[in-house]
Amino acid sequence: MTVRLILAKGREKSLLRRHPWVFSGAVARLEGKAQLGETIDVCDSNGKWLARAAYSPESQIRARVWSWQADESIDIAFFVRRFEQAQQWREWLAARDGLDSYRLIAGESDGLPGVTIDRFGNFLVMQLLSAGAEYQRAAIITALQHCFPGCAIYDRSDVAVRKKEGLALTQGTVTGELPPPLLPITEHGMKLLVDIQGGHKTGYYLDQRDSRLATRRYAQDARVLNCFSYTGGFAVSALMGGCKEVISVDTSQEALDVARQNVELNELDLSRAQFERDDVFKLLRRYRDSGEKFDLIIMDPPKFVENKSQLMGACRGYKDINMLAIQLLNPGGVLMTFSCSGLMATDLFQKIIADAALDAGREVQFIEQFRQAADHPVIASYPEGLYLKGFACRVM
Ligand code: SAH
Repeated sequence: MTVRLILAKGREKSLLRRHPWVFSGAVARLEGKAQLGETIDVCDSNGKWLARAAYSPESQIRARVWSWQADESIDIAFFVRRFEQAQQWREWLAARDGLDSYRLIAGESDGLPGVTIDRFGNFLVMQLLSAGAEYQRAAIITALQHCFPGCAIYDRSDVAVRKKEGLALTQGTVTGELPPPLLPITEHGMKLLVDIQGGHKTGYYLDQRDSRLATRRYAQDARVLNCFSYTGGFAVSALMGGCKEVISVDTSQEALDVARQNVELNELDLSRAQFERDDVFKLLRRYRDSGEKFDLIIMDPPKFVENKSQLMGACRGYKDINMLAIQLLNPGGVLMTFSCSGLMATDLFQKIIADAALDAGREVQFIEQFRQAADHPVIASYPEGLYLKGFACRVM
């Protein structure tokens, strides 16, 4: 018999709207004993079946829903169905945009909470982030091999959030060959090197693909500052768009070394590209003090907010760097600015940019809006899935 999780009275509302999480505060009791990540049934306070879920005893998110169908078991065939459904959309997108790399599984939004899978050429890079995902590891791998027989699978579950779930960090080859130190991928006509084993996240920020493409339209003859450059995707795009010069800034020397190689790989003019290992917060101040000016600034910082208590501090951080960037722009210049913090709502982010403009003493017009690329969809029942947003602003 499957273990049953019984909700407290009146706490079934979000599940009836198909939100896939059960918070610890909504749980009345567990009928039976369940292991870390085991599949359980979630029922309302009257015992009515609501969903089949994975049990996370150590997390505030006590259960994550796998299925809303009472007759669906969570087995290899289940994962095959989910993978096939996700793959259909990515195949269409890959054909439309000429991609060889994309997010194949975007967790909750693809009906698989805690599962992230990125495809880079013929390598599948897997991140299992929840107790339930880890419990299903063998089924997930078998299903992936069934759906993608030609692909090697590499595990990058070396992410800190696993600790909240009571899981250790893991990394390494699962099946097939070891990924090369730098794998070339294709993105909107650019070639980019991806370090699957040692890079950030699964190796590359696929979610910014369309914003990097948009950069090209603002780059003609511009002097560009690319803040938080990582491996230089925005810089390569700006060079392809005909920029005069692009300075990429990051604290990671490894990332900047790859950025330089990416410029070379695309046979772009390396004399127009500079790479500065520095703290963006400090460098922006130095540039302000020395009177440097730019025509296009890209501001793509890492996540500043992990939980609600950090939101105020993050707002100050976003305002600070955006104010400095606005001050560094020539009249008519463009700021492309992003926030990948899920807890930062789009309208709050827009307000922060407006405040930054006020403090900078400059007029700003919002001219374009960005979000994560379409291989990172947002399922209607889980609006939290929209985490990356951005604006292009014209500074007067
Ligand atoms: N724009 C990149 C992704 C940026 S990810 C792309 O298109 O791929 C954020 C980057 O910020 C990381 O590479 C990280 O090394 C860098 N970083 C974090 N804090 C920093 C700081 N204070 N100054 C400069 N770089 C920083």
